[in-house]
Amino acid sequence: MKQRLLFLGPPGAGKGTQAEQLAADRNLLHLSTGDLLRAEVAAGSALGQEAEAVMARGELVSDALVLAIVRSRLEAQAASGGGGWLLDGFPRNLAQAESLGVLLDELQQPIELAVLMELDDAVLIQRLLGRGRADDNETVIRHRLEVYREQTAPLIRYYQSKGLLQAVEANGTVETIAERITALLG
Ligand code: ADP
Repeated sequence: MKQRLLFLGPPGAGKGTQAEQLAADRNLLHLSTGDLLRAEVAAGSALGQEAEAVMARGELVSDALVLAIVRSRLEAQAASGGGGWLLDGFPRNLAQAESLGVLLDELQQPIELAVLMELDDAVLIQRLLGRGRADDNETVIRHRLEVYREQTAPLIRYYQSKGLLQAVEANGTVETIAERITALLG
């Protein structure tokens, strides 16, 4: 079974929900850069203070900062005997994807599957408006979708060209979508 995974898709596609469930079922490390950054903001750390305003605007936090977070988590997991992982919300641009590739080469842990969750903008916006997080007002949501299209969507081709990408339709119940994803894991 594939156990080194990443989830790609626009904000609101349900990556977090699916990732959390799948990671719990398969005993994978769930690495959500959004969750980790929000935890830093809540803790008031230097890192959190640096990230807070950027996140509130719906822009991307610096590559160096998120990479440091991901690197420390993946290295710790590798040092403690390894196991699978699921990256959710990272990488979010080509520079992050390239840095991740270098890190995973070092760890000798190549990605086995990139799952793209696809959903129409109208549905995404409705879902995000219903969620009510600090960065979920309409102006910021539209901006996050733009950032996704410009910076993150190029990763679709990037992972496609490496033969790693599989897409799932992300409309439906949580259970239906979970089944679609499970079917890709082999
Ligand atoms: P969503 O998928 O709904 O956009 P996330 O929780 O993944 O929500 O991300 C929330 C915010 O955290 C992003 O808008 C961005 O500011 C920041 N963030 C999360 N992951 C990254 C990343 N890999 N690189 C840069 N910024 C990130």
